[in-house]
Amino acid sequence: SKKRDGKNGAQLYDPQIQDHTRRRAEIERDIEEGLKEDWFDAFFQPIVEVESGRTVGYEALMRLVHPQRGIVPPAEMICVAEETGAISRLGGHVLEKALSNLARLSAATGNHDAYLAVNFSPLQFDASLPVRLAALTAHFDIAPRRIVIEITEATLLHDNPQIRTILDEFSRYGYRLALDDFGTGYSSLSYLNRFPVDIVKIDQSFIRSLTEDEPELRHKSRMLVEGITAISHKMECTVVAEGIETDEQRRILEEFGVDYGQGYHFARPQPLPKLIELALSAPANLPKVSAG
Ligand code: C2E
Ligand code: MG
Ligand code: MG
Ligand code: MG
Repeated sequence: SKKRDGKNGAQLYDPQIQDHTRRRAEIERDIEEGLKEDWFDAFFQPIVEVESGRTVGYEALMRLVHPQRGIVPPAEMICVAEETGAISRLGGHVLEKALSNLARLSAATGNHDAYLAVNFSPLQFDASLPVRLAALTAHFDIAPRRIVIEITEATLLHDNPQIRTILDEFSRYGYRLALDDFGTGYSSLSYLNRFPVDIVKIDQSFIRSLTEDEPELRHKSRMLVEGITAISHKMECTVVAEGIETDEQRRILEEFGVDYGQGYHFARPQPLPKLIELALSAPANLPKVSAG
């Protein structure tokens, strides 16, 4: 039934394809309008010490705050931006928001130690990125050791020499490198060997399986998480567990020696004003007053 409607190129009238095309056009429009109207923000999700719950850092997560439709999550937008090439502009814009928010959060709370993890798509890795990032951290007076570059295994997949050069430049500036969604790529362990990874972020699918009903799957995923943690520590990496939703998961991760965690159990990604409120209401995060 090629000529379903009796029109030429019946495929164009496939309702699914038409929906997809319309949705894509909508997202492209959102990206351009959002950049023009300044609707993009960097929300921060706290990263905490698994043992104590103390906040040690934040992950910047892109959000489009639409005047009518509210908060739009980034996954689809990032895919489309990668396809159209808008990712560099979009990423650069959100990076600046993220650093500005970190500077304001530090000023408001007096905490100048918490680190900031920022996600980068492989397509944002152009040769000028390290020097642009350095200019921004200098502008906002942020120490480079506070910045963590989050990449997924996809960025390292082809061991592209240009990417290696950029990663080397990042480490010369003193930025740290985190491997995101660890364990879901093609040859996860080999990246620990070949690249200067400082932080391993265990993918949330493994964390979810820790408290799975099915005993075999639950057992295996616990062994995996414990093993990944031990290997990462031997490689002198800090381990962060993503997507912690229950205290049971937190307790298991604590037992395995996982350093840091993030997830709805602790806090959701938040806009700056909420974060300042949150940080100031948590006694452990207030600036220390020396006794005597
Ligand atoms: P990611 O870097 O792995 O970020 C973690 C995702 O898990 C975030 O989704 C976060 O909101 C979500 N999450 C956190 N805790 C929990 C939990 O307890 N349960 C569940 N179910 N989810 C949790 P989000 O914000 O929708 O971001 C999705 C992905 O989009 C990110 O995955 C990252 O790959 C990408 N992304 C986000 N912001 C940026 C950005 O500024 N630039 C680039 N290039 N990519 C970004
Ligand atoms: Mg991430
Ligand atoms: Mg992740
Ligand atoms: Mg992810």
